[in-house]
Amino acid sequence: MRYNYDLFVIGAGSGGVRAARMASTYGAKVGIAEDSRVGGTCVIRGCVPKKLFVYASQFGEEFDWAEGYGWTSDSSFDWPTLIANKDKEIDRLNGLYLLTLRNNNVDLYEARARLADAHTVVLEKDGEEVDRVTAEKILIATGGWPHMPDIPGIEHAICSNEAFHLEELPKHMIIAGAGYIAVEFAGIFNGLGVEVCQLYRSTQILRGFDWDIRNAVANELVSKGVDLRLNSPIIASIDKQDGRLLVTLTEGTTVVTDAVMFAVGRDPKSQGMGLEDLGVETTDIGAIVIDDEFRTSVPNIFALGDVTHRYQLTPVAIAEAMAFTATQFNDTPTTMDYADIPTAVFTQPPVGTVGLTEAEAREKYDKVDIYKTNFRPMKHTLGGSDERTMMKLVVDKATDRVVGAHMVGLDAGEIIQGVAIAIKAGATKAQFDATVAIHPTAAEEFVTMRDPEPDLPSQVTE
Ligand code: NDP
Repeated sequence: MRYNYDLFVIGAGSGGVRAARMASTYGAKVGIAEDSRVGGTCVIRGCVPKKLFVYASQFGEEFDWAEGYGWTSDSSFDWPTLIANKDKEIDRLNGLYLLTLRNNNVDLYEARARLADAHTVVLEKDGEEVDRVTAEKILIATGGWPHMPDIPGIEHAICSNEAFHLEELPKHMIIAGAGYIAVEFAGIFNGLGVEVCQLYRSTQILRGFDWDIRNAVANELVSKGVDLRLNSPIIASIDKQDGRLLVTLTEGTTVVTDAVMFAVGRDPKSQGMGLEDLGVETTDIGAIVIDDEFRTSVPNIFALGDVTHRYQLTPVAIAEAMAFTATQFNDTPTTMDYADIPTAVFTQPPVGTVGLTEAEAREKYDKVDIYKTNFRPMKHTLGGSDERTMMKLVVDKATDRVVGAHMVGLDAGEIIQGVAIAIKAGATKAQFDATVAIHPTAAEEFVTMRDPEPDLPSQVTE
């Protein structure tokens, strides 16, 4: 063999591990490097621990609701127990990922990788070279890292990474931003009894989502007690004062708090690997530029997942890894299809969404029909909660195709996954209508909405 490996993967997160495993299954000799823990953002410090925290934060409300059903409870919450149990589960999953690599004969290098040339990977620990291997093809799947603004006192702030390991729960906390991570953690900490103040610089949270989703989630955050400040000045500096934090905003006002969490986006992790010297093209924020085959500007070097900064979603990185390995190692050219990617935001209640927003559909099609419903879910009738469920279908009038489905409400993520299959398959509104409902569920509303909204010009501009 000319090289030690057919494929060397840098980064053992969701995309990297899937690519390594599949390439090996197709007969390639594969090595992988990881300088943190195998499993990556999703398993170690993202989706998985976050979802466990979301479950934890929901019990308070659930105990209240249970009283309407005849239960009485005397509950209390212990943060160290949650952290310890969560850590145990993450260790278990980390072990399973290690086993996957071992069972698939992938050589794991627990070291930091740097490219000496287009085919040579230098492996380093504590800045010292510990190994050096060559590979015909190299895949960069190093993911992303939370962006922290360059402001005085930023060392006092945390990001989502630290939120999973706080020694104690703060009494009051400021969360900056209003994307996926900020709204999910606002719900988590609020549910666990922390007073949460969420600062967002613009008009409405969750930019890019359907306008009705944004409004519905914001209403729920506020009604559950989050101090959501829209059109807010952003954080200018943080000072430590008598064991608390004094946060100064750009217009000069101050807020005293116990913790400050930034969730203002994630940067691609492409630095320190020698990519610049090799001429691998990156954007101004360091995203690796790739073509439809995940190939960078250096022909034998590929990249996928968050380091390309396109769709920062685990299932997308996994699907990209499947397409990449099928193309490169199984003689089956496969192009990744990015249309109609469903996604969930694990707020309380959660968001599930797939396809076009109303605003996007109005841009794309001549005429659009909108079907909407907003109701109090059955569980809350006895439970007593005021929480609402909002559901919405966006239909291209000319073809009758359902081009978008959006929901905020209990189980939204679970429900939208099924609806996403119909939308991916090109289902029409008539086919939704012809589908028999499952009663009594909330999901049945997706097949029982009969009357479109009055055809008014949209007030939605974003
Ligand atoms: P997002 O890009 O989703 O949101 C960033 C937020 O920070 C926006 O509200 C943005 O405001 C605001 N912001 C950006 N820069 C600044 C600044 N300098 N000062 C103040 N506010 C600022 O990033 P996240 O960190 O929330 O999440 C990163 C990615 O991770 C997401 O895009 C998502 O793909 C993925 N993710 C997915 C999850 C899921 O599937 N459930 C869960 C968690 C993360 P503005 O809107 O004005 O730009």
